[in-house]
Amino acid sequence: MDDTFPPTAVPAPRTGGGAGYLRIATEEAFATPELIRIWLGMVGDYDDPGFRSLWGFYGTSTAERPRFVLESLQDLGEKRLAAMDAAGVDRQVISLTSPGVQVLDADLAVAQAALANDRLAEACARHPGRFSGLTAVAPHDPKRAAAEIERGKNRLGLHGVIINSHTRGEYLDDPKFWDIFEAAQALDAPIYLHPNTPPKSMIGPLLEAGLDGAIWGFAVETGTHLLRLITGGVLDRFPRLKIVVGHLGEALPFWMYRLDYMHAATVRAGRYERMKPVELKPSEYLRRNVWVTTSGMPWAPAIMFCREVLGPDRVLYAMDYPYEYLADEVRWQDDLPLTVAEKKRFFQANAEELFGLPGT
Ligand code: CA
Repeated sequence: MDDTFPPTAVPAPRTGGGAGYLRIATEEAFATPELIRIWLGMVGDYDDPGFRSLWGFYGTSTAERPRFVLESLQDLGEKRLAAMDAAGVDRQVISLTSPGVQVLDADLAVAQAALANDRLAEACARHPGRFSGLTAVAPHDPKRAAAEIERGKNRLGLHGVIINSHTRGEYLDDPKFWDIFEAAQALDAPIYLHPNTPPKSMIGPLLEAGLDGAIWGFAVETGTHLLRLITGGVLDRFPRLKIVVGHLGEALPFWMYRLDYMHAATVRAGRYERMKPVELKPSEYLRRNVWVTTSGMPWAPAIMFCREVLGPDRVLYAMDYPYEYLADEVRWQDDLPLTVAEKKRFFQANAEELFGLPGT
């Protein structure tokens, strides 16, 4: 494996659809310089060890990869386009990186989300053939979050919503947040439930071992968030909600049999007040309401498994630029054992249909 950074060794796949499909990368990150300045002012004393771990690293490390990430997140222009060309990516679906505005006080969070959405919409308007975007919101102000989802869809031309998992340790299965789901379902706006570092109440043993971030902690935290939505009945209340999760579903597809079995047994036994009967099995919600992307998981056996257990319409390509940036990863997915028509679905058509992207 070529692990040089940034990728240089082998000629990259071409953009332009010559292989029979466009490559649409669906979990690609950016941040405004304003928000990064705010985060860097918080890393010293903000009461969230996961945030301090993540942004203490990306904000201050002098190593090559975090410096590339910090610089590239703030670019919505030529540098990003050149990186896409070099890796063979035709279009990015871009969203505000973790933890977004969700660590800020509500008023500042609302203002910074609006600023980020305006900037992203401007960039998408400058490069309509290459960039699409998702709307960032401040979940801790659900009514204004709902209004921003509407503004993002109807006035800014954005294609869904990004929520960077928990908001100051709170999870969206709490009914106080449900204005957000109401708006997303009514507007048919998919919600990308992107990882955050585990909250203070969860992070101890993960952080102690250096496992709090993308290596494992993200999946534990965000997979748990999605399960809370499922077992908490949110998807009975909002049956047409579309949830997108990265990293091949944060491990939940692999866990589907056990989720179904233990959920049914636990509900039957009446063990927990919060775990009431719901209409479907957990695996049925995963097949009905959830789409997964391959961000950070360019591994054929796992991708093929997810296609098998969720269905080929439910698995979408993503790169996770600039955190994950290797042309080899595109090539490995070009080499999946699929027909050209199946690859078109995987790389292009699923994303176009789910996010309502401009067709070709
Ligand atoms: Ca990501």
